[in-house]
Amino acid sequence: MSQHSSNAGRSGRPTLKPTTYSAQAPLAGKTLTCKRCGRTHPYPQAGGAPVRCECGWWYENVGGQLKDEFKPRLGI
Ligand SMILES: [Zn+2]
Repeated sequence: MSQHSSNAGRSGRPTLKPTTYSAQAPLAGKTLTCKRCGRTHPYPQAGGAPVRCECGWWYENVGGQLKDEFKPRLGI
C-alpha cells in the first residue's frame, strides 16, 4: 500500500504575447527630400555612399547624421 501525494495542481499558464518593439526603424522605404529641388531619394545608409541629387546637392549619412553639401559640377 503505497501512498504518494503528488502535487499535480500546477496551473502553469504561459502568457505568450508577442510584443514586437522595433527600436530602430528600418531604412527600407525611408526617403529624403532634396531641400532645393524637392526630388526624393532613397535615404543614404550610415557610412554608405552619399546620395547625389541632380541639382548639385549631396547628402551623406555620417554616423546617423545627415550631412548635406552643395557641390555643383564636381570634377567637371
Ligand atoms: Zn535636388
